[in-house]
Formats: sequence, structure tokens, C-alpha cells
Amino acid sequence: MDKNKQPRVCVVGSINMDLTVTTQVMPQQGETVLGDDFATYPGGKGANQAVAAARLGAEVHIIGALGEDVFGKTLYDHLKQESVLLDGIKKIADTPTGVASIILSENDNRIIVAPGANVQVTPELVEAKRDIIKSSNIVLLQLEIPIKSVVKTVEIANAYGVPVIVNPAPYQQLPVSVVNGATFLTPNEIEAAAMTKVAAMDLQQKLIVTKGSAGVAFYRNGKEELVPAFTVNAKDTTGAGDTFNGALAVALANGRELADAVLFANGAAALSVTKIGAQAGMPSMTEVEDFLK
Ligand code: ADP
Repeated sequence: MDKNKQPRVCVVGSINMDLTVTTQVMPQQGETVLGDDFATYPGGKGANQAVAAARLGAEVHIIGALGEDVFGKTLYDHLKQESVLLDGIKKIADTPTGVASIILSENDNRIIVAPGANVQVTPELVEAKRDIIKSSNIVLLQLEIPIKSVVKTVEIANAYGVPVIVNPAPYQQLPVSVVNGATFLTPNEIEAAAMTKVAAMDLQQKLIVTKGSAGVAFYRNGKEELVPAFTVNAKDTTGAGDTFNGALAVALANGRELADAVLFANGAAALSVTKIGAQAGMPSMTEVEDFLK
């Protein structure tokens, strides 16, 4: 692909508002405690990966759904601000925008996700946005939308020969058509362990396994290769996997070889953990290039 041309990435996935309370004491059943701070952060794996790819200079479209409520408006404006293109967004009346309710204490966290509008990312919506997938260089998927919509997206991408990265998170059993239709699968170590039960002929060749501070494993000529993580001052690893996936998509769409793309994404993800917040540390292209020099 032309080096000066912006790669086109299509993310089909979730958009949430994270509602985070920090507390010294976790409430027990039936108990109310006084916490410390409250903050809202844009989140959802789909939106996080879209922002990661956009920061790296790609033309990014997101296919997703928002409620017509305050969080929906805030997230829409936020994605626009991050240069994510929003023609794939459906706004849904009488349905709340997806939220994650997060309780954070020093050594524990509890999270409940209410998917809300993300459930409305239906196969019909994906079909209606078919042209966005068709005109992309790569498609990026996670599992926070209905699985039948993941199946539909893979089917459309395959029909046009557009490569697909499936980040199987949060993990659920993948339909065989998704495993077979994916170009790459990017589980973390825990998700990879769950996937060993999946029977697919060339599964191993498609696997790129992120291993936190241990780095990334992928396969070349049937042999596992481990790319060690960069040593950085890690402050918050939330969203490290999302940065990795967004960066991998951009690197592959830019025409980089797999090993080179994995190295690039490993660098971008390392930079992302040096700042607090899933999206706050997502680097620009110049920042990654300087880091990898
Ligand atoms: P997830 O966030 O999906 O659980 P991982 O924890 O495996 O994913 O992290 C994804 C990638 O982020 C890793 O493969 C690595 O490239 C990078 N990363 C994560 N934690 C660190 C760290 N402490 N230091 C450097 N890089 C890290």
C-alpha cells in the first residue's frame, strides 16, 4: 500500500461510558460505604481500539450504537474529537448508552457492564453499513457486541477479501466461521488458554497472544516467537490490549510484515501503560516511531 496514503480501519464494536468510583473499603452485600472520587471515562473495547488506531493516523470508521442520552452525546462528541468517523453509528431512542460501573479499591476492582445500545449492533446494522467494511483495508472486532454480528462482519469482510483481526475479549466460545474467517486472533493469555479447545486447522498460524509485561507471542513457520515487552514505568495497564489491537490493525493496513507489525503494536501498547486511563496513554505515530528508534 502507498506509504503516503492513510490506511482505512473499520472497527465494529462497543462504545461505553466507564463510571468509576474509587474507595478504600469495598462494600459488602447490603452495605453502603462512603467512597472517595468519582470520574467518567470514555471506554468500551470498540471505541478504545478505534481511538488507538485514529491517534496513529489511520482513517477510522466505527460501526456501533449509542443511546439518545447524555452519555451517548458525550461519547459521540468525544469520538469526533478523536477524529473517528461516525457514519457507522446508529443512535437508538429509548435505550441507554452502554455503561461500565466500576468500583476501584487499592487491591480489588468490581465491574458490571450494562451493554444498553451495544446490543443493538445487530447483523442488520452491520449489513446496512456494508460499504464501510468493503472500502476498508482492515477490520477490527471484539466480543462486546452480539456474536451473530461478529459472524456477519467476518462474512462481509471475507466476501471482499478485507483482512479481519478478531480480539476475542471478553472471551466466549467462538463460532467456527469466525475462527476460520479471521485473519488474526489476538487473545490475551487467559483468553488463549480458553481457546485451546477450539478446533481449527490453521488456528496456531492466526494466533497473536498478548502476555502483559511478558510481551507478545506469534507463530512463524509453525514456530512460536516471543517478542519481549518493552521495559517502561507502568502506571495503568487498563486498555493495553486495546492499544495493541488498534496499533496492530494500523501497522498491517500500512503494509508491514507480521513480525514488524507485532513489534510496532508492542511499542504502542508499552507507551499506553505509562499513563493512567485506558485512552489517555494511547500514543501518536510520531511517539511510537521515536520510541522504537
Ligand atoms: P489485555 O489488556 O488485553 O489483558 P495484555 O495485558 O496482554 O492485554 O497487554 C497487551 C500488550 O500491552 C502486551 O502484549 C504488551 O505489548 C503491552 N503491555 C502490557 N503490560 C505491559 C507492561 N507492564 N510493560 C510493557 N508493555 C506492556
